[in-house]
Amino acid sequence: MNKSNTDLSGVMVKLEDGQRRLVATRSFSPDADELILHETPVIWAPQRYYPGYRAWLIVRQIVDDPAKLRWITEKHFAITPQPWDAEDRSFAQEVQSVRGIDPQTTQALYFSVATNHMAFWDEKGRNIGSGLFETLCFTNHSCAPNADVTPIACRRGTALRTIKAIAPGEEITWNYLSPTDISVLAFTDRQRLIQEIFRFQCRCVRCQRHA
Ligand SMILES: [Zn+2]
Repeated sequence: MNKSNTDLSGVMVKLEDGQRRLVATRSFSPDADELILHETPVIWAPQRYYPGYRAWLIVRQIVDDPAKLRWITEKHFAITPQPWDAEDRSFAQEVQSVRGIDPQTTQALYFSVATNHMAFWDEKGRNIGSGLFETLCFTNHSCAPNADVTPIACRRGTALRTIKAIAPGEEITWNYLSPTDISVLAFTDRQRLIQEIFRFQCRCVRCQRHA
């Protein structure tokens, strides 16, 4: 199993109100664009496949490798129910016949992967795949984020950078929507879009002001 390569300083994953969050343990400067952390994915699938199939490619690697199964079990990633159709059911049945893993377990694995997989880039800044990361996957969405994920020149993986000053103890968040959506859309449209794409109700500080 490939070990993820993490440059990590000044952050920790904290369990709070049943949710894991990435929290700053030091202050990050008011200058935007400070590197918070850079990671390579632990398990990933190529970008050329549609998102649902990418998630399945990752699930296949997990059910084929006890070390990867142990890794994801110990991560306690958030699980958000996702669409689940006849094709998904037949994939889950195939996993049961080949690996003896019951379809419910496979479905939970699929939901976990679909909820948490994130894009990463090659050394030239091309988006080449989506994967699961040791720490980055715990960075939650906010409509008023203090960080963003970007490629990093000459390095494969995903970087988390500040877009504003961050104080110790503050949660680090990024915007899962597009920059345009987040600046243009009003509260109800943002909520609807987040629900539609990511299937959760946003309770960020900005949304709470309107709720
Ligand atoms: Zn929000």
